[in-house]
Amino acid sequence: MIRKVLPQNDSFRGVKILHDPVLNKGTAFTLEERQVLGLSGLLPPRIHTQKEQVTRVMENIRNKASDLDRYIYLIALQDRNENLFYRVVMDHIEELMPIIYTPTVGEACQLYGHIFRRSRGLYISLQDRGHIADILRNWPHGEARIIVVTDGERILGLGDLGADGMGIPVGKLALYTACAGIDPTACLPVTLDTGTNNRKLLKDPLYLGVEQERVRGDQYDEFIEEFIRASQQVFPNILIQLEDFANINAFPLLRKYRDRACLFDDDIQGTGSVALAGLYSAARITGSKLSDQKILFLGAGEAGIGIGDVISAALVNEGLSLSEARQRCWFVDSKGLIVADRGNLTEFKQRYAHEHPQVETFLEAVITLQPTAIVGVSGQPNSFSREVVEAMCRINSRPIIFALSNPTSKSECTAKEAYTWSAGQAVFASGSPFDPVELDGRTIVPGQGNNAYIFPGVGLGVLVSRATRATDEMFFEAAKALADQVLFEDLAKGRIYPSLNRIREVSAGIAEAVANVAYRNGLTEEERPADLVGAIQREMYYPDYPSYV
Ligand code: NAD
Repeated sequence: MIRKVLPQNDSFRGVKILHDPVLNKGTAFTLEERQVLGLSGLLPPRIHTQKEQVTRVMENIRNKASDLDRYIYLIALQDRNENLFYRVVMDHIEELMPIIYTPTVGEACQLYGHIFRRSRGLYISLQDRGHIADILRNWPHGEARIIVVTDGERILGLGDLGADGMGIPVGKLALYTACAGIDPTACLPVTLDTGTNNRKLLKDPLYLGVEQERVRGDQYDEFIEEFIRASQQVFPNILIQLEDFANINAFPLLRKYRDRACLFDDDIQGTGSVALAGLYSAARITGSKLSDQKILFLGAGEAGIGIGDVISAALVNEGLSLSEARQRCWFVDSKGLIVADRGNLTEFKQRYAHEHPQVETFLEAVITLQPTAIVGVSGQPNSFSREVVEAMCRINSRPIIFALSNPTSKSECTAKEAYTWSAGQAVFASGSPFDPVELDGRTIVPGQGNNAYIFPGVGLGVLVSRATRATDEMFFEAAKALADQVLFEDLAKGRIYPSLNRIREVSAGIAEAVANVAYRNGLTEEERPADLVGAIQREMYYPDYPSYV
């Protein structure tokens, strides 16, 4: 789909078009368009193709001194010429995803008030209570189909960044478009400003949010309730993605709204799905099945429990009972191994509190439990020590080691460490990207368990099928569809996720699996189209310039 027709409005001419990022083509406007649209003289005479414009943009990006400068430049391009921005990102996805998303987006959010240029998305703060629907109606692009919403309390592994967390919904929605072709004008980033407990930000005169501490309890719950209801009222077909809420809110919000709205939490379900896909692929390398795995997690927050829940759902689907499935997952958090007789466990941790004596350290847990896989989702760098990796190697010929904490500085171990300490035997994936590792004359390519493999395809599947709910089954089917698309040549290099260069094709495959769940389970009033793949392709946006004459 190449979208966008010029508004049928005579006043929409000249510089207004150049200042509209959705319509602007910059130096690519043809001579005829320039004459008809009143652009003559407003642009330099040389007409460039989009490809030539991409060359200029990439030259600029590569000449920047830092990744943060690259981020600022790219966001400015998004604000100036959206089609060109997506063309650049799609054609250089491996190079630019780490800029528009983790790790650079984290750095950008930490400085958001200082690098702020032009507002994007909607900010809704506590003062707006009672009027949230009116604010949503201020969205200038017609019908929004996907909202990514955060309250900024747990941005990546960086903690509470308040309203300055807006970079995350903006970045995630850019990935919906780049990776799955969701029309950018259907993508609405929202920050719910419920205050911040970040002292540094509260003292910073350039902070973008309301200067107050976070509200909790009824005040918070009522605010979220109004937001969800208003979103459904203003955009009846909306899919809502909860993003980077602290786990004290994320789990209750998901439980409360998952059956009342078309809604999911990417940190819980998206992470669960991408990690499950990694396990399916790793099992192809190790010659085992999912039900053969015993997984030990370091960290029992949104990501850890989310992964445990999606794995359990997939195992139940394979025929295990829920309690048998949960027995495959063990958790160590900041207080040690989660076991049945540990007091004061939250409800979501209790599910995985098995009968076992307490164990103090992670290394001890590895030695005692003999897992096939360890998954780091603790935000604690260096916690997968040499001793831990070596212990995993004594238990398994091909140990599965996922160090998923973001950004790179928080990763439980590096790719190089995992491969070196395991003499190249580890099946490794990380949350943020690592470069390939040279070991004994072999190049090993680490996998990146990036949620961007999953949520764009899930979103596309929900949109195409007009599903009214986003279910756990969609997430484990998405994981299977992702793992099925890993090529033998990827696995041979140690890589357990497909190349990001194939992400659009991969997302379309995931969308098909997700839409099939919706049709099969009556989650939509639509009939399954005979040519579902064709319907998915037709829904996808391509950033080619339209002709305006
Ligand atoms: P969270 O705050 O909800 O949970 C963190 C967990 O780590 C808690 O259970 C905490 O008790 C535990 N922890 C903290 N210090 C510890 C220690 N010293 N030893 C053992 N456990 C400790 O955070 P989250 O949302 O679960 O995210 C955790 C990490 O996972 C973050 O760095 C995040 O960026 C990363 N993550 C990665 C992906 C991905 O790779 N696809 C997706 C989501 C989250």
